[in-house]
Amino acid sequence: MFESLQERLSGILDALTRRGALSDADVQAALREVRRALLEADVALEVVRGFTDKVRERAVGAEVVKSVTPGQMVVKIVHDVLVETLGSDAEAIDLNAPPPVAIMMVGLQGSGKTTTTAKIAKRLAERSKRKVLMASLDTRRPAAQEQLRVLGEQISVDTLPIVAGQTPVQIAHRAMQAARLGGYDVVMLDTAGRQFVDEALMAEMAEIEAAARPHEVLLVADALTGQDAVNLARAFDERLSLTGIVLTRLDGDGRGGAALSMRAVTGKPIKLVGTGEKLDQLEEFHPGRIAGRILG
Ligand code: GDP
Repeated sequence: MFESLQERLSGILDALTRRGALSDADVQAALREVRRALLEADVALEVVRGFTDKVRERAVGAEVVKSVTPGQMVVKIVHDVLVETLGSDAEAIDLNAPPPVAIMMVGLQGSGKTTTTAKIAKRLAERSKRKVLMASLDTRRPAAQEQLRVLGEQISVDTLPIVAGQTPVQIAHRAMQAARLGGYDVVMLDTAGRQFVDEALMAEMAEIEAAARPHEVLLVADALTGQDAVNLARAFDERLSLTGIVLTRLDGDGRGGAALSMRAVTGKPIKLVGTGEKLDQLEEFHPGRIAGRILG
């Protein structure tokens, strides 16, 4: 296991016997460890730089109060900047629009998109008492539409009947129309993924977005992807009006770097996190918990 940042900073800073303000030199030494800890937590390099600048601004000249050691003090500053960067409050899914409200789910293949679509649908149906329709727009993987139908049965949420031969945009139109006619509050659009971001994927997503005019566009991303998460988030954010991020596999042993990187690059909130394969393993995002993971 990694030595925690707290331990490392104590080693460096607590040798300082004097009290008073942290000097530039003290902070520089501490920042080297902060940088290492962030990189080990898989935070993208470009995000690390901006982050350590913020910590430096706040730490240099800060008075070390009697009740804490300089190491504890820097850890506290790092923790606070982490929580601020991650976003302080859990932001709920926004359904504040005339029904049917469309929620478009985007992301790479295998990120947990279909599972998360069903998890959110279940939550909206059970907790928010909304009438939800799910539609799979994945015409690339033959089993994808069937997978969503089976999940729908498990959670007692309706799915759009499967019609062979339609394009994703045609399915999107059909889903919106079915939702209007059927009096649904919410339509969840589960789109196709790819193994990596490419122009064909982005063009398809942009076309679906234009057709369905979703109120929420949620990027589903695997918490274990670390550094790659930045490129992923940037690519989707450039082409679509992303409204938030859902981070899956937070039950895995990732150290939370993906969350920080994606949030910092897109500025979009992490709205929910997946913590397992079961359909009720979806939780609100707590920045403090991720900050704790990153600090080690
Ligand atoms: P998609 O290709 O993006 O639609 O991915 P799927 O929804 O089919 O999920 C791929 C795999 O990841 C499945 O085995 C899911 O059960 C699993 N999965 C999804 N979300 C989570 C999560 O939060 N934690 C864990 N451990 N597994 C997940």
